Amino acid sequence: MSSRNRNHNRGKKSKTLKKKNPAKVLVLYTFALIVLLLAIFLINRATTGSEQDMTRVEELPSIVNQPVIGQESAKVTMVEFGDYKCPSCKQWSEVVYPQLKAEYIDTGKMKLVFINTLFHGAESELGAIAGEAVFSQNKDLFWDFNKAMFANQPTADHDVNWITVDKVLEVAQSVSPTIDLTKLKDDIVNKTTEPSVNIDTELVAKYRINQTPTLIINGIVIHNPFDIESIKSVIDKEIGA
Ligand code: CA
Repeated sequence: MSSRNRNHNRGKKSKTLKKKNPAKVLVLYTFALIVLLLAIFLINRATTGSEQDMTRVEELPSIVNQPVIGQESAKVTMVEFGDYKCPSCKQWSEVVYPQLKAEYIDTGKMKLVFINTLFHGAESELGAIAGEAVFSQNKDLFWDFNKAMFANQPTADHDVNWITVDKVLEVAQSVSPTIDLTKLKDDIVNKTTEPSVNIDTELVAKYRINQTPTLIINGIVIHNPFDIESIKSVIDKEIGA
């Protein structure tokens, strides 16, 4: 083949390519753009997923007659659905709560509300009735009792039957000598505070709580109560809002 022919052939080839290119290039670019947009969407979704779903419940949980710690006027309200019989709640109470308390509750930025969530049968119920009974005697001491109950939950075997009337009275006594133990025992035995526990159970059903602890911050349901950084970012956003 002469060099002239080769050139000629090349010329023909490049002409043919040039003819096909615009459509092909357009398809390729469109495809690349779709892939890029899809990648951005997926990366964005993955990033958001590692934080918290910011969807708010339609109506804030009612905290009327519920134990509240922190300033009434605090901009952020965190509702904890918890159970004295639940090991994760003990862990949350001992690991996550002290950090959030120091940073947000003690500084007046947030208040915390505790709702009894009876996921472990009769012992959960006894603990809840006792908690409500202490609350009815002294609103502030409820929080010391709450903390002491989680502290008294056995670490080795939480399934062991530990929430008994005697244990609850022992915990109450350790919290403060001002708690009337006779009245507390009567309230527990007669289930005097059962109506308050029932109100909590209605909230558990209304907000379809299926794990403890569950946190709701200004109506935003927190899916991972141990992800402190993302919880803080939700609280900070609410403070700034
Ligand atoms: Ca309650």
